Amino acid sequence: MLKPTIFRLYDIRGVYNEEFSAADCYRIGRAYAEHEAKKLQQSPLKMYITGDGRVSTPEILPYFITGLADGGADVHFGGMSPTPHNYWAVYHKKYPAACVVSASHNPAKYNGFKPHDVHGKVYGDECMGLYEKALAIEVPEDLDVNNWESRCTKVDYKQEYIEYLVSKCEQPKKFRVLVDAGNAVPGAWYPDLLRAAGHEVVELFCDIDGNFPNHQPDPLEPENAAHAQKAVVEYGCDFAFLYDGDGDRLGVVDSVGNIIPSRSVMAGVLFKDVVQRKPGVTVAMDVMSSLFLQEMITNWGGNPVLGVTGHAQMMECLHDNNAEMACEFSGHIMTQELHGYDDAGYATLVFLRAIAENPNIINEVREEIPTTTDITKYIAVDDAHKYETFEKMKQKLLELYPSAITLDGVRVNFGNSEWCILRCSNSTPCYKLRAEARTPEKAEQLAQQILDIMAEYIELKPFH
Ligand SMILES: [Zn+2]
Repeated sequence: MLKPTIFRLYDIRGVYNEEFSAADCYRIGRAYAEHEAKKLQQSPLKMYITGDGRVSTPEILPYFITGLADGGADVHFGGMSPTPHNYWAVYHKKYPAACVVSASHNPAKYNGFKPHDVHGKVYGDECMGLYEKALAIEVPEDLDVNNWESRCTKVDYKQEYIEYLVSKCEQPKKFRVLVDAGNAVPGAWYPDLLRAAGHEVVELFCDIDGNFPNHQPDPLEPENAAHAQKAVVEYGCDFAFLYDGDGDRLGVVDSVGNIIPSRSVMAGVLFKDVVQRKPGVTVAMDVMSSLFLQEMITNWGGNPVLGVTGHAQMMECLHDNNAEMACEFSGHIMTQELHGYDDAGYATLVFLRAIAENPNIINEVREEIPTTTDITKYIAVDDAHKYETFEKMKQKLLELYPSAITLDGVRVNFGNSEWCILRCSNSTPCYKLRAEARTPEKAEQLAQQILDIMAEYIELKPFH
């Protein structure tokens, strides 16, 4: 049953009992333990395992943990917890390798594995390579996972983790906030964290129900904020916070029920705060970010750098540039204070500290953001020629725009908050073209400029 397509760039994720079975969880566990033991040259290798609040997680864990133990690992099991807590444990509890059983914000029928170790995320070929390794594992005929609890050591670091985060981010003011966890695992952790930091918390959908009966735990989709937008007003809260299914992404709603867009206003608030706190500091954002964000950061006295879109790449970008903070388009916020990983609970504390120190910061940022329009076009290309043709178009674009950024695709900045990017889609047979400009007409015109060049190399057909 094990499908190769569930082994992706950053994690293993698929429909449980359709794309991978319980027995496959044993194989993945054993393959991962053997892989890490070899990579890190440690035996037995100490590994930290946690899981999210999905219905299938308690079914998967006995198989996965038995597989890890059979692979020679000394497994420590930390129970149900958000993904960032697992990152924290790798640093503070000195686990060389770890894994979270979670499918992040995906619908209830999905589950998966997020492997990482002292070197960071297990990603790219390393993650995808686990497929061959898992496939080669033979599941013992007499496999019995009933005594899985005796194959691992149970640990509970919740209190210590909360105390650590609170000690890293002092809260000058007490707020009344609402937490909408969408019935996912952050509901069992982040209200406690915010209370420990001195805030008053109203809980909405904070009981764990892996069927996600109220809304998907994904703050990127505005429809998921509808309950919080109403409740924040009803309960007279200063803010409502939403998290994704495993607690590494943050969404914010203000006191009157407006969503604070993560890639513009929220990123702006966090960046402005850190630049004012540490003038001249470097901050990172992904290559799909608006040009106005970079322009604003420069005006505030900071040094913006761009990184490749993607969670692991942004973490790398933060480390390579010694950046203090990185914001990724989808709501991941990484900070140097937490060794460069993203913790949405911690990001909430950083956000509230910024507001406490400058109550007007949201309005200031909103006023500085220019009015722009962005458009995205998808152009079909057959997979066999996708990269080859892209190389040719890229060379042509670089001739015309020598200062273009080629970190990930080709990004041309025109100044005045206007820019465009052409990229290859990693997962679908198409090119993505995005343009942002001061007016809709100008955005179209910029996109057309690039399309005209593309037309010299491929027949332009929209991709649906
Ligand atoms: Zn997530």
